[in-house]
Amino acid sequence: MKTYRKELWFNTPHRRDFINITGEIEQCVAESGIKEGMCLVNAMHITASIFINDDEPGLHQDFETWLEKLAPEKPYSQYHHNGSEDNADAHLKRTIMGREIVVAITNGKLDFGPWEQIFYGEFDGKRKKRALVKIIGE
Ligand code: ZN
Repeated sequence: MKTYRKELWFNTPHRRDFINITGEIEQCVAESGIKEGMCLVNAMHITASIFINDDEPGLHQDFETWLEKLAPEKPYSQYHHNGSEDNADAHLKRTIMGREIVVAITNGKLDFGPWEQIFYGEFDGKRKKRALVKIIGE
């Protein structure tokens, strides 16, 4: 069995951002040389997510609005976690949007359903953070 590991780094200009990383993951699959297997991508921080959905700007605005209803950033004082930190909302948003994705690799390609794209979801950005790509197979 072959294995492949890579870290992808991010430093978003805003506190919250969604970044389509599908092209980078496709490049990882190509570099791995693996034709049949599984590809895991996970955020390595507890205030960021990796998720799969549509690359449609209206939907991304809907995610932002929905997440702000569920776990509004402000007032910071509404959260027990906030004191020395102000990112309780980011921990909650990350939990809803998920830590990782797994995609099958078939014939050397990500075996997606229609419109599936992979995103890095940042909820406490403006600093260096990373995601892990692990691919196993043959
Ligand atoms: Zn925190």
